[in-house]
Amino acid sequence: MNETAPSRARAEIDLAALRANVRALRARASGAQLMAVVKADAYGHGALPCARAALDAGATWLGTATPQEALALRGAGIGGRIMCWLWTPGGPWREAVEADLDVSVSGMWALREAVAAATAAGRTARVQLKADTGLGRNGCQPADWPELVCAARAAEEAGALRITGLWSHFACADEPGHPSIGAQLTVFRDMVAYAEKEGVRPEVRHIANSPATLTVPDSHFDLVRTGIAMYGLSPSPELGTPADFGLRPVMTLTASTALVKEVPPGHGISYGHHYTTTTGTTLGLVPLGYADGIPRHASGRGPVLVGGAVRTVAGRVAMDQFVVDLGGDRPEPGADAVLFGPGDRGEPTAEDWAAAADTIAYEIVTRIGTRVPRIHL
Ligand code: PLP
Repeated sequence: MNETAPSRARAEIDLAALRANVRALRARASGAQLMAVVKADAYGHGALPCARAALDAGATWLGTATPQEALALRGAGIGGRIMCWLWTPGGPWREAVEADLDVSVSGMWALREAVAAATAAGRTARVQLKADTGLGRNGCQPADWPELVCAARAAEEAGALRITGLWSHFACADEPGHPSIGAQLTVFRDMVAYAEKEGVRPEVRHIANSPATLTVPDSHFDLVRTGIAMYGLSPSPELGTPADFGLRPVMTLTASTALVKEVPPGHGISYGHHYTTTTGTTLGLVPLGYADGIPRHASGRGPVLVGGAVRTVAGRVAMDQFVVDLGGDRPEPGADAVLFGPGDRGEPTAEDWAAAADTIAYEIVTRIGTRVPRIHL
């Protein structure tokens, strides 16, 4: 493939913006360390360059969901602390221990596998105990916490592991004032206090994600784990815009208009003819579709900046392409069609696409597919 040939679409990743976002988040984090959450290919932004940029800007930890994601970062030469939290039985515990990853443990089976891997490797595993303080997802229930803490302490005394962290995750931090925020903090403090009474001396206690980092200072403890805000997006419109928090969106998604053509009134557009032209008009063909992560649910609603005006997806988003009604304008074929970006050149934002598709900005950027090259600036 000719690497210099113009591509049909590109996602430009503004690493200077990411670095500035990391600095802005650290300034809000009450002196806590910052873990850059780079799971899911850094929410679609490219894990390796984003990890490097975040560390460069002062992040001291990286976080991933799967151990494979964390091992890939280590394999690419990333040093320092990397934590991964989504384990299944039979996972790559030994590789994780040998790669000096911090592994999360939510229950007894995971503790047993971590200890067995450490023993087999002749190493000390770095284990972070995860508490379910009310999210109702991963993590150890308060009722099971004494058993887990006691077994982890025994393994620590035996030299198989070191309990490096105690941690949890919020359910509703993106809903300002939600009563579960305070309730989870109370449970977290109690579970941490219990573990410390039993002799656990964690390096880091942490519960804050982006929304809590931005709006719940009491939740910062020793470390905040930021994903979406680091990519310059607001966790929720209810909380505010990125600019309200001094953040700048990092990803700009642009396609080259593949075709511009005139059509008469009454012309049905795309599968199902859910849009019909009412006058003679021009159509632009945008060569991105749901195979690239453009939500089909945004059919008839998603906004695109083409030729100086914001247009709306006309009819259905197809697998590889969709159409916009250009209202008689005739941009050159190849003209930029900007789906989303920071918004300061008049282009829509990922939040606008989230609203158009009844979803969250997290899903919009994360789902942009591998056919779209990431250009790291
Ligand atoms: N911590 C954990 C355990 C997560 O699963 C996530 C993402 O879902 C984060 C932190 C980062 O969340 P956010 O992107 O809201 O900062």
